[in-house]
Amino acid sequence: MRIEAVASRLGEIMRGQVRTNEPMSYHTSFRIGGPADVFVIPRDVLDLKACLDFLRGERAPFLVIGNGTNILVADEGIRGIVIKIGGALRDVDITDGQIIAGAGAGLPYVSRVACERGLSGLEFATGIPGSLGGAVFMNAGAYGRAMQDVVVSCEVITPEGDFKTYERDYVGFRPRGSRFEESREVIVAVTLRLEPGDREAIRRELESLARSREEKQPLEYPSAGCVFKNPAGGGAGRYIDWAGLKGLRIGDAQVSHKHANFVVNLGRATCKDVLELMDVVASTVGERFGVVLRPEIRVIGPQLDVPWD
Ligand SMILES: Cc1cc2nc3c(=O)[nH]c(=O)nc-3n(C[C@H](O)[C@H](O)[C@H](O)COP(=O)(O)OP(=O)(O)OC[C@H]3O[C@@H](n4cnc5c(N)ncnc54)[C@H](O)[C@@H]3O)c2cc1C
Repeated sequence: MRIEAVASRLGEIMRGQVRTNEPMSYHTSFRIGGPADVFVIPRDVLDLKACLDFLRGERAPFLVIGNGTNILVADEGIRGIVIKIGGALRDVDITDGQIIAGAGAGLPYVSRVACERGLSGLEFATGIPGSLGGAVFMNAGAYGRAMQDVVVSCEVITPEGDFKTYERDYVGFRPRGSRFEESREVIVAVTLRLEPGDREAIRRELESLARSREEKQPLEYPSAGCVFKNPAGGGAGRYIDWAGLKGLRIGDAQVSHKHANFVVNLGRATCKDVLELMDVVASTVGERFGVVLRPEIRVIGPQLDVPWD
């Protein structure tokens, strides 16, 4: 089936939004990325399931995104269907110290809800602008803690279209990653276990972490957070700083003056600018210190895999 026909059929099947030629720069924190052929926002989990069932029948290439805060999308865009979950599946429920939340709930929002209920353990996540699903996929973390410390289980839709619930151990958390990178399952809900704490103390901690981020991170510019994973034995930013690369610029992509592991978009940066800059940074750090820097951000498009191949 041609992509126009896929879009029109999705428009009939789904209750959520279906758009064509949607600029991905509207949906990424980097503000970079050409158009996705088809872009959908499901209304709820059944709408998502209907969309996935149809795409499986057509063997159509698709990508699920959360809030688009850890991705760099090709300037040519994406040939296939992008399904945006961030902001869509966002119900949050709390019982007996457990938070059960939709994968599209924002991490800062979930950590504020936890604070209001006097639950401690998710403070580290307050300034991470991703969705809960994206945070589990990436094992997002900060200040020595990460999602692996609080996740109890995840509900997913498998590539075959079944709902499954996986306990934490199955998720295969690793530094800034999880087995979802290979499994192609779509995370729809996450259960977190937190500990009772003092609401005022948690609130003070959230405020202090937010202040610290404002001081240390270039939040005034579009970015996707840290571009490289930390190598064993030190922060990637420190090596980049020692190599004198702060402020290095290609096109409108620049190594941040404030935080060397951030690449910022000064206005019209392209995916190509960012990739060239990352290449120069990684090879310079490699030559100077013999340290291999690996990307933390996920580079997407223009072609997508077909998960059923
Ligand atoms: C200013 C700034 C600060 C940041 N600080 C931190 C930090 O301190 N620590 C940190 O770890 N990260 C940080 N990040 C990066 C980013 O916010 C996290 O990695 C976040 O968890 C990504 O979530 P997302 O919803 O935006 O995922 P996206 O960027 O939308 O997607 C990331 C990957 O997850 C997959 N994915 C997303 N949702 C699902 C789902 N429901 N099911 C299956 N796959 C899915 C996507 O296909 C993609 O491969 C920062 C980013 C910014 C812009």
